[in-house]
Amino acid sequence: MLDTSTLLIIDDCAADRKIYRRYLLKDPHQSYQIFEADCAEEGLALCQKIRCDVILLDFCLPDMSGLELFDRMQQEIFKTSVPVIMLTGRGDEEVAVQVMKRGALDYLVKHNVTQDVLQLAVRNAIKQSCLQAQLNKTQERQRLIATTALRIRQSLNLEQILNTAVAEVQQLLKCDRVIVYQFAPDTDGKIVASSVESFRTVALCDRIGAEEKAEEQGSGVGKVPLLCTHPHTRSPIPNPESPIPYIYELGLCNCVSLKEQFNTQANLVVPINLSNNGNPTPKLWGLLIAHQNSGERLWQTDDAQMLNEVSVQLAIAIQQAELLAQTQTALTKEKQLNTFKSQIIATVSHEYRTPLTSILAAASTLAKHSQQLDESKQERFLGIIEQKARYMSKLVDNMLLVNQFELEKPTFKPILLDLLQFFSDLIEQERETTGDRHELIFNITGHTQGFWGDRGLLQQIFINLMSNAIKYSPDGGTVEFHLIGKESEAIFYIQDRGIGIPIRDQENLFQSFSRGSNVDTIPGTGLGLAIAKGCVELHGGDITLSSEVGEGTKVTVSLPKICPMSQLSPSAT
Ligand code: ATP
Ligand code: MG
Repeated sequence: MLDTSTLLIIDDCAADRKIYRRYLLKDPHQSYQIFEADCAEEGLALCQKIRCDVILLDFCLPDMSGLELFDRMQQEIFKTSVPVIMLTGRGDEEVAVQVMKRGALDYLVKHNVTQDVLQLAVRNAIKQSCLQAQLNKTQERQRLIATTALRIRQSLNLEQILNTAVAEVQQLLKCDRVIVYQFAPDTDGKIVASSVESFRTVALCDRIGAEEKAEEQGSGVGKVPLLCTHPHTRSPIPNPESPIPYIYELGLCNCVSLKEQFNTQANLVVPINLSNNGNPTPKLWGLLIAHQNSGERLWQTDDAQMLNEVSVQLAIAIQQAELLAQTQTALTKEKQLNTFKSQIIATVSHEYRTPLTSILAAASTLAKHSQQLDESKQERFLGIIEQKARYMSKLVDNMLLVNQFELEKPTFKPILLDLLQFFSDLIEQERETTGDRHELIFNITGHTQGFWGDRGLLQQIFINLMSNAIKYSPDGGTVEFHLIGKESEAIFYIQDRGIGIPIRDQENLFQSFSRGSNVDTIPGTGLGLAIAKGCVELHGGDITLSSEVGEGTKVTVSLPKICPMSQLSPSAT
């Protein structure tokens, strides 16, 4: 089957028109639908009505010169290039050259026109005009893509980038809806941007909703075409069996069920591939989907290519936004670390000075006057040195631990613990160091078996909480410790009748170096609760505090009996 081209002959000589028509209709390589006009006005009118592939234009017309007509066609009808072959008389070559300069496809001298010459000239003109049209289209496409890319890449905010991308692509492809779908490492992923908010959202995994929609439109699920491009190439993979629309398997896409998910409407799907740290295989970030809700749409290869090119630009913008976000996070972390280090230096210099002074004074008294001091006084000075040195050592340990929580999580090694034994030992230890002014009450109820925890971290939690309860009850009183064993968790209360904490201070107490405004001269660095919280979180548990000034403080810790993290590789005692 030959392509049929539309040809218009504008010539006042009926005999000539007849000859041209006869010559062209004999062309074995091309078929024509031919229109004729015998004057410029009629020619112009026809040009407005029909889309001509080629116009044979006689230079001498009764109502207008061919040159004038050419100009008017260019201005009024075609705007850009006019597919004209100018027919001139002998000796009019100069005029012909002028027409060529203005953009005509060719010119023929009337007397030299033979069948072969005319057929060849018209065929060439058609070819040339097709190429020109294609070039214009490509240029226009490139311009649109460049504008779209510019708009997408103007922002460094991921949400903004995605929203601009979907809006721009919807304009570009003139489709109903554009979606950006982002893959997630553990799940199928989700829609992260959509060009139409009011559109009834069909979760991509929701087959039921999708099927309903397909029924509403009278098209069975699976009948609607899906055009997808290969995730690792930039051009669409043509299906040799069928013309566009192609139905493709998503092939190397990670998600096997995607085809089913997307194969419910007329969708055009391209991957969003991020470059992968020099790795030749890109990282599949998500999909850019153009969606035609109103019936089937036969997507053109051009549409797929445009979508692909936008997806490349989108990938660059996403990568830039992600890099910026990463840098900002690193910067914030760096700032926090710097503040933290400054606080450590300030605390060390402040908290070390007092005990060090006491140690130095005790040591120098012992060195200088040991002869004059009796044994009990010597022991008292040695006791001061030991107590202050222990305090300093604990301070260093606490700082190291907090530092570990800030930089990386300390190791968590849960074992099956006998809670009853563990707390009996702990309370006993506390009783040994607590004076007579405090009464420690230990109460256990419920089912305490089957608890997995990290012994060292649990000691950190409860020693800190108990020492707080005692330390912040300077007038003595009862300190109650309750353990309630439940089916899948253990709950601990530590209640004192001490100085309490002002409401305004309570919010920040779990942050390092935070202290209540009512501590007066009670020593402390503000690290205990931060350490306790870090350890509770490693167990997958929760810690809360309620307190009233002058009434006392109650800290509640709930820990799952089996921490989700420990289920992976618990090591029994
Ligand atoms: P350290 O690092 O030696 O534990 P600290 O006791 O000051 O020092 P945290 O245990 O973190 O630090 O406690 C933070 C602050 O919370 C305390 O300074 C105190 O103001 C308040 N606080 C904690 N527990 C109690 C309590 N039981 N009663 C009253 N105030 C408390
Ligand atoms: Mg403390």
